[in-house]
Amino acid sequence: MKSRRMPPKPALDAEAEVLALLDSLFTQAKAQFGTAVKGQWFYTGDLCPGCSFRPIDAMRVKGEQALSMNAFMYRERGVLIGYLLCSVCANQIFKAAKKNPYQQIPLHDDIERNLIAAYRKHLTSLDA
Ligand SMILES: [Zn+2]
Repeated sequence: MKSRRMPPKPALDAEAEVLALLDSLFTQAKAQFGTAVKGQWFYTGDLCPGCSFRPIDAMRVKGEQALSMNAFMYRERGVLIGYLLCSVCANQIFKAAKKNPYQQIPLHDDIERNLIAAYRKHLTSLDA
């Protein structure tokens, strides 16, 4: 069997993939937290919610391009917020998780603060 390099996927496919992934995370969260989980929202800002200045980009995992899809539960609103990071922040979290699995690092606090701000802004834009 010959292996063939896949051409890079168009952005739209990557986005559909990410949204499908968020959907499955949402289903998992609902199973875990029940009715506390009311909705899902995907962060579509241009800048990484971790550092707020680098664009969100792909990170290489075992030589393949990959987007680092993450999600966090905004408990106050019962919203599962899905997001992508820049490769620098994604690597930082990846490395920290390897050392201390399931532990929050300060970067997580920044990410959550930025995402909550973005989500509130999104809600305000809906009201307008
Ligand atoms: Zn970043």
